[in-house]
Amino acid sequence: MEIRDRILIVEDDKSIRNFFRAILEANHYDVIMANTGTEAYSLITSQCPDLVILDLGLPDMDGMNILKKVREWSGMPIIVVSARSHEKDKVEALDLGADDYITKPFGSSELLARIRTAIRHSRSTYVNPEGGLTGVFSAGGLMIDYDKHRAYVDGQDANLTQNEFKLVSLLGKYAGKVLTYDFLIKEIWGPNMENNNRILRVNMANIRRKLEKNPAQPRYIFTEVGVGYRMIDPD
Ligand code: CA
Repeated sequence: MEIRDRILIVEDDKSIRNFFRAILEANHYDVIMANTGTEAYSLITSQCPDLVILDLGLPDMDGMNILKKVREWSGMPIIVVSARSHEKDKVEALDLGADDYITKPFGSSELLARIRTAIRHSRSTYVNPEGGLTGVFSAGGLMIDYDKHRAYVDGQDANLTQNEFKLVSLLGKYAGKVLTYDFLIKEIWGPNMENNNRILRVNMANIRRKLEKNPAQPRYIFTEVGVGYRMIDPD
C-alpha cells in the first residue's frame, strides 16, 4: 500500500479550504482539515501531520499562536498562508519558525512546489553527529563542500572569506527557504550584533560577485525584498 503524506489544512474560509483539498487530494496527499485554531491544535497533537498549512486569520485566534505553541516541541513543517501582504507578518512568521509562507492569491503549482520543498527539508539531514554540516550541496554550477569549507562555481574555487562561507552554507542548509535578515545576522555575527542589515548587505554583495555571473540577475541566491534571502533548491 502506498504511504501518503498527511497534510493538515487550517483555514476557516470554506471555499479556500475546498480549493486546497481538491488540489492536494488530486496530488495524492492524505488531507485533514480544521476550521479553528483550537481544532487545529488538537489535530496536530493527535494526528501528527507531515505538514501543516496554516491560515493566520482564524476565528478564535491568530495563527501565529499555533505556530509558537507547536515550535515549543516540534519541528514539523508549517507553511503559513496569509492574505496579508505586509512584510512584517512574513518576517514574524519565519522568525517564529514557519518553514515558508505563501500569500493569497497563489497558483496550485506554486503551492505544490512549496509543500514538496518543506517536506523534503524536514527529512533531509546534512548534519553530522557533532552537529556540523557535512557532505556537499550542489545546484547547477554551484557546489558547496561543507567538509572542505569551500564553495565552487563551475569547478573553480570561489575564494569566499570565512563569514561569506558561513552565510552561503547556512543558506544551503535551508535551501528553498527564505532566511530573514535578523536570523542570518544572529547566526553569523552572534546575538549581540545590532540588527544592522548593512553588514549583511555588504557581505551578500561580495558573495554575489564571487558566485554569480550576473549579480543583478542571480541564479543561486535570491533576494526576498524586505524579508531576507533564499538559496535555490539543490539538484
Ligand atoms: Ca481566514
